[in-house]
Amino acid sequence: MDVLTFGNDMLRQKAAPVENLKGNLSQWKETAEKMFDALKAQKGIGLAGPQVGLSQRIFIIDVDGDEPRVFINPSIIETSQETWKYEEGCLSIPGTWANVVRPKTVKVQAWNEKGRSFTLEASGLIARVILHEYDHLEGVMFIDRLPEAKRQKVLDKIVKKAKA
Ligand code: ZN
Repeated sequence: MDVLTFGNDMLRQKAAPVENLKGNLSQWKETAEKMFDALKAQKGIGLAGPQVGLSQRIFIIDVDGDEPRVFINPSIIETSQETWKYEEGCLSIPGTWANVVRPKTVKVQAWNEKGRSFTLEASGLIARVILHEYDHLEGVMFIDRLPEAKRQKVLDKIVKKAKA
């Protein structure tokens, strides 16, 4: 699986819900495995379907100190009022890093690749990765969450890099 980069239209589309997950478990298990392979190859901590050309509501995370997790048709149930700022990057915007403000904790419900529903309450980096990957399903990228002046600066850099 190749990771699509900034400028590809698919990254800006809202991903479609996975239909009939339970009837296609082997297919989704295989998809998740391939996504983990791509994630490891790129040394990332999260990857969403649209980033690998799959406009479907699936993302995976693999954060140090936590188990690898698959989220299919996720819903964000709750986020904390409290926020924190941390430097984020994205496999689809290689070499670009910027501080993004996000909620400190998140409660999310989803199905895993075994077709089981689960609810997870996460905080810190895990919460951040979940929210970053969820954004990808909505066609949102982390630079969209930067203050306008900063966003423009980062965009200019990306364009310059693409021309170089
Ligand atoms: Zn990303």
